Amino acid sequence: MFPHLSHNDGQKLDLAFCYKIKTTLIATNEAPSPIGYGICEEPTTAEKNTAEFCSQRGYWQYSFLKSVMPQGRKDDFVFYGEKTKCLVELFCQDNRIGKVFIEPHLKLRLQLTNSKIRFHGCQAVRHDDHIHVQLN
Ligand SMILES: [Zn+2]
Repeated sequence: MFPHLSHNDGQKLDLAFCYKIKTTLIATNEAPSPIGYGICEEPTTAEKNTAEFCSQRGYWQYSFLKSVMPQGRKDDFVFYGEKTKCLVELFCQDNRIGKVFIEPHLKLRLQLTNSKIRFHGCQAVRHDDHIHVQLN
């Protein structure tokens, strides 16, 4: 995905989640957001809403990309949780990878338990539209 400011050291990589085409339920390499960011797999009412938590604490940037990204293509896709989980686990199993960031409600929903999976903090951007992996 399009690299952002903290990624110019060659140690970090952002990847879009895995999706299916909604009408056919066939897996696709496309994502609802053309840049990968800004169309989110939101928490359900029963799940922890980290984006709301951070926004309420004044971290306006946390959901910024969502606020500027047109949401029109969201309904053409469904989140492919099992495949996304496999991808995260593959990164965790690689000894070169130090940390993986994904939003807390998705870590819980996908039952991801590896200790490399961390919460990135409210000063970052939300990670329910992409996975962040880094070497250290
Ligand atoms: Zn990142």
